[in-house]
Amino acid sequence: MKAALLNAPGRISVQDIELPEVGPNEILVQNRVALTCGTDVKLYKRGHPLAKLPLVIGHEFAGVVSKLGKGVNTFKEGDRVVAVNSAPCNECYFCLRGQQNLCENLGKVIGFSVPGAYAEFVSIPDRIVEKNTLRIPENVSFEEAAILEPLACAVHGSELSAIQPGESVAIIGSGPIGLMHLQLAKNAGASPIMISNRTADRLQFAKHLGADLMIISSQEDQVQRVLEFTEGRGADVVIEAVGSNDTWEKALQMARKGGRVLMFGGCAPGTSVPLDTYRMHYEELTVKGAFHHTPASVRKAMDLITSRAINAKAIITHKMKLEQVTEALELMAGGKALKVSLSP
Ligand SMILES: [Zn+2]
Ligand SMILES: [Zn+2]
Repeated sequence: MKAALLNAPGRISVQDIELPEVGPNEILVQNRVALTCGTDVKLYKRGHPLAKLPLVIGHEFAGVVSKLGKGVNTFKEGDRVVAVNSAPCNECYFCLRGQQNLCENLGKVIGFSVPGAYAEFVSIPDRIVEKNTLRIPENVSFEEAAILEPLACAVHGSELSAIQPGESVAIIGSGPIGLMHLQLAKNAGASPIMISNRTADRLQFAKHLGADLMIISSQEDQVQRVLEFTEGRGADVVIEAVGSNDTWEKALQMARKGGRVLMFGGCAPGTSVPLDTYRMHYEELTVKGAFHHTPASVRKAMDLITSRAINAKAIITHKMKLEQVTEALELMAGGKALKVSLSP
């Protein structure tokens, strides 16, 4: 089959490789679409100690079941399916306490510890088949379904931020994740919604999706703009969706007294930021991190896609062939595309 192999950081080749093996309780999916993701860009640019190269990367995909492993009876050949990249063990300390996103034993992760979806076929590990593979409803396209994984992460984060109707929300970053948070906040009744981005182009999408204030952070003081827009108080809820020390610090500065800050963007390991203890204590800031998804947030995300409460298509800005994967990842790296849909 045709597959895009990451051979070394910055070097991908599209070539013919063996069809993946299908073990017991696994399924083979013929990909119809694979989406690019910020995580793929990071892997492509710098690799990862746990990702053994050469590796087929890509973990946001949807397709058709083409082969069933022994023992699979929940799916049949021809089913349209979407799966996320991992599934929790449901046995560890964290899983037993309902924090499956923090599972200590995630096992096989598609496009990371096992071959991914930038290929004609992808094999779905047994645990993911059992817990995190869903049939795609007829009215949902493969492309829409493929945003399931990042949306499930955003849904998990938005549950932690618990936005109430009428609350003001400031989002830092107008990339795919920021735009998903924007839609989730809007659905929760947030108003006004402010969003910032370094460049103006991505803010156009935010405007289209109903943001009330767009801030070009390379040209304006984004903290000042949020304060002005909230009568000097700051936002009720701030969502950081970039992942840099600068924006983490600014997220804390944008929150009102008693406000809630959701740190959604992951920074490089070892990053730390100063903490204003006065604000934290006397102004009762609540700061939460958010990471990954749970089987419940995966199902909720699927419902949001199916009911079109989330506009999945708005997040996909380019369509390309699998052979153009390097070009697609470079577009992403340059902030020129939100997500690229790759067809094998
Ligand atoms: Zn992703
Ligand atoms: Zn676990």
